[in-house]
Amino acid sequence: MIATMQVPKAIEAWCENLERYSDFQNRLPRGRTYLRNGSVIDLQIASGEVKALVCGSSVYQVAVKIMPVSKARWKSICKDCAGAIDSLVELLQGRLSRAVMERICREKTGLFPSPKEIQLSCSCPDWAFMCKHIAAVLYGIGARLDKARTPLPASPTG
Ligand SMILES: [Zn+2]
Repeated sequence: MIATMQVPKAIEAWCENLERYSDFQNRLPRGRTYLRNGSVIDLQIASGEVKALVCGSSVYQVAVKIMPVSKARWKSICKDCAGAIDSLVELLQGRLSRAVMERICREKTGLFPSPKEIQLSCSCPDWAFMCKHIAAVLYGIGARLDKARTPLPASPTG
């Protein structure tokens, strides 16, 4: 098998992580549809925060704040990865090696935030802990992971 067969692992792990928000199962598929329809028009990943604009009946601002990983967990990850990770941003941008990815995708002791460690907000009136816009952004992050690790030919636009 070629190495690229491993690529979807990152997105899979991220999406599995999402599905831990099991109370919101209805909203997740709708988020997926939004993402597929290109409704996520801007997605910026910065340190500890992801900001995006999502088109619904209006344009909504979505923010995802990720709390810092606990020191103990971080230490253990760093030990296992011999200092190969600089930040969560690198993870989100998919710039990490496969061995490192596997370590940080590990449930509980990995780097993906648990529901308690993530703060979600959206400017839409349908505000709940997670609305379809937020779900779309979370899937967008997963898609970004996938894209970052898959070299795409430059495609002309327009
Ligand atoms: Zn919303």
